[in-house]
Amino acid sequence: MQKENIKNLSLKELQEIVSSWEEKLFHARQVFRWIYKKGIEDFALMSDLPPGLRKKLAERFIINSLQLSKAAQSSDGTEKFLFESSDHNFIEAVSIPAKGRVTGCISTQAGCKFGCAFCASGKLGFRRNLTTAEVLDEVLYLKNKSSVKKLTHIVFMGTGEPLDNYAEVLKAIRMINSPDGLNIGARRITISTAGLIPGMEKLSKEGLQIELSVSLHAADNKTRDLIMPINKIYPLDNLISACRAYFKKTNRQVTFEYILIKGLNSDLQSAQKLGRMLTGMDCKVNLIPANPITEQQVFPPESKDIALFKNALLKTGINVTLRKPRGKDIEAACGQLRLKYEKR
Ligand code: SF4
Repeated sequence: MQKENIKNLSLKELQEIVSSWEEKLFHARQVFRWIYKKGIEDFALMSDLPPGLRKKLAERFIINSLQLSKAAQSSDGTEKFLFESSDHNFIEAVSIPAKGRVTGCISTQAGCKFGCAFCASGKLGFRRNLTTAEVLDEVLYLKNKSSVKKLTHIVFMGTGEPLDNYAEVLKAIRMINSPDGLNIGARRITISTAGLIPGMEKLSKEGLQIELSVSLHAADNKTRDLIMPINKIYPLDNLISACRAYFKKTNRQVTFEYILIKGLNSDLQSAQKLGRMLTGMDCKVNLIPANPITEQQVFPPESKDIALFKNALLKTGINVTLRKPRGKDIEAACGQLRLKYEKR
């Protein structure tokens, strides 16, 4: 029988198994402490568990299902890790240290079906959804084995659309947030979506205080159709209405990500259109100069054009932040390391 990754289980599910073995219920919480607080990956090392229970756990479960294939460190401290799953899919996670925080950028799917133009992940197509355990494997690797060995924030902005793998990602989020798991505050966890409206509606009813970030990248349907094919299913008007409804339901401000691509969406008219579209909404916009992707002819605008875009948007009263692309020298843009690796 193939062993299951124990990180697929909630505490309650493990308690049920432990109790069916006629072991004391509190041992389940001890197991969680070893895994999530101490980073232990071997049941034999869980010294406060009875030997018989350690044996039963080892016979039924594994603790980690990802193997590290490749790691790269940027001169700015960003570290990127490429993992191989047991069925030979490649999965990326990135650790991004910045002033007083370390953010883990986590993948939720192997490959991606959404085919955004600025993103290398869509190039190789969709393979499968990641399990809750695989998502948590990524998180725990960054926490325990990256150079900084610390994580304060989690963003689901790696490969894949998190709301397209809703149940597994939500279960992982609850474990990341739980005091029995990683105990990272909900407001330090961000789901980033390409604009999957049904998933946003579902998320708004979860009662979670997590952040929602929406990849916008254009201020009109014609341009967004070109950049993000999902726009043909959920066009801008519907998406912005869904964001307003999300705010109304959760009282949580939505963040819009806007990648500035030279010659496509970074002119002054686009900035003004974007400002008009978001008027009256409690939101913020992150401007991100594109990481160059030669295969897709994607390049960032000149610095002066970026400044003009930002100022035009500020004039419309929108809260704007210009983000620095991180890990450029290790190709830490969405899916880029995986693409290079698989092309060899
Ligand atoms: S940006 Fe996100 S949704 Fe779009 S192709 Fe890349 S991984 Fe998929």
